Amino acid sequence: MLEVTNLKVHFTTRQGTGRAVDGVSFHLDRGETLGLVGESGCGKSITALSIIGLHPRPASRIVSGEIELDGESILTLSKREMRKVRGERISMILQDPLTSLNPVLTIGKQVGEPLRLHRNMDKAASRNRVIELLRQLHIPEPETKLDDHPHQFSGGMRQRVVGAISLAADPDLLIADEPTTALDVTIQAAFLAHLKAVQRARGLAILFITHDFSIIAKMCDRVAVMYAGKIVETGPTAELLSSPQHPYTKALLESVPSVDRGTERLNSIGGSPPSIYDLPKGCTFEPRCSYAMDRCRESYPLQFDIGDDHSASCWLLE
Ligand code: SF4
Repeated sequence: MLEVTNLKVHFTTRQGTGRAVDGVSFHLDRGETLGLVGESGCGKSITALSIIGLHPRPASRIVSGEIELDGESILTLSKREMRKVRGERISMILQDPLTSLNPVLTIGKQVGEPLRLHRNMDKAASRNRVIELLRQLHIPEPETKLDDHPHQFSGGMRQRVVGAISLAADPDLLIADEPTTALDVTIQAAFLAHLKAVQRARGLAILFITHDFSIIAKMCDRVAVMYAGKIVETGPTAELLSSPQHPYTKALLESVPSVDRGTERLNSIGGSPPSIYDLPKGCTFEPRCSYAMDRCRESYPLQFDIGDDHSASCWLLE
């Protein structure tokens, strides 16, 4: 349903040209969830924003690659056509619910907007549907709460409102960028269960961006691990979590707390990701990799197939 091929997104600033997304390719089928993981600044959110046409402009631009939705390129659509795709076919839960809601509009108006714009619902039908959506996302007393403004809601409630807006017009593809960070564990579980239920009922495809491997394990069919603007490993969730092949994936998983570890110290990955304005010539993980060889400094590794739909870019796999 979604096919992203060799996508490159560059930032042009006073620092020069930054390669934020540097040749990313992946696919997502109807009814499937793909998890996108990696440290902050590795290009996950910019990849997602580019798909929905909301990458920051004019600072960034898509310099090459293709994004296809059901076989049709969305990069060639006019602004008007893209507005129709956004909300109706693709929607997104943005990372920060505090800034993605309009402070001067009521919750009801904001959740109802996609219904009026994309589903031509009248006021009464839209109000009923908004109440239903808020109830499904565990907002208490939705009949009265829909007349409140965002500042009257807690952070967790605002995040659920953003979720309700994204699901309102029954999109085919949902991009969820850290959608559960402001939720406590019980509400998080209910929210994820609701997403799964919507997915089962309508064949919704979900691109799920998170740092949390427990959510990946629960929600995702496949995972793509991003580092310095590239996907370094991708594969079916169970296989990738039990048998990671790229040193970066292994290091990420070793830094996850586990009850089995007892009092053992958690591993951390030394250093930080490279600047997008000054990427190393060879493997971008080389400065932090304990397996690095001379070859890793000279050229970026090829992508090696490891198993069914499982591949990684590391010279150790040659
Ligand atoms: Fe480490 Fe070399 Fe593999 Fe890069 S290619 S992850 S530096 S071993």
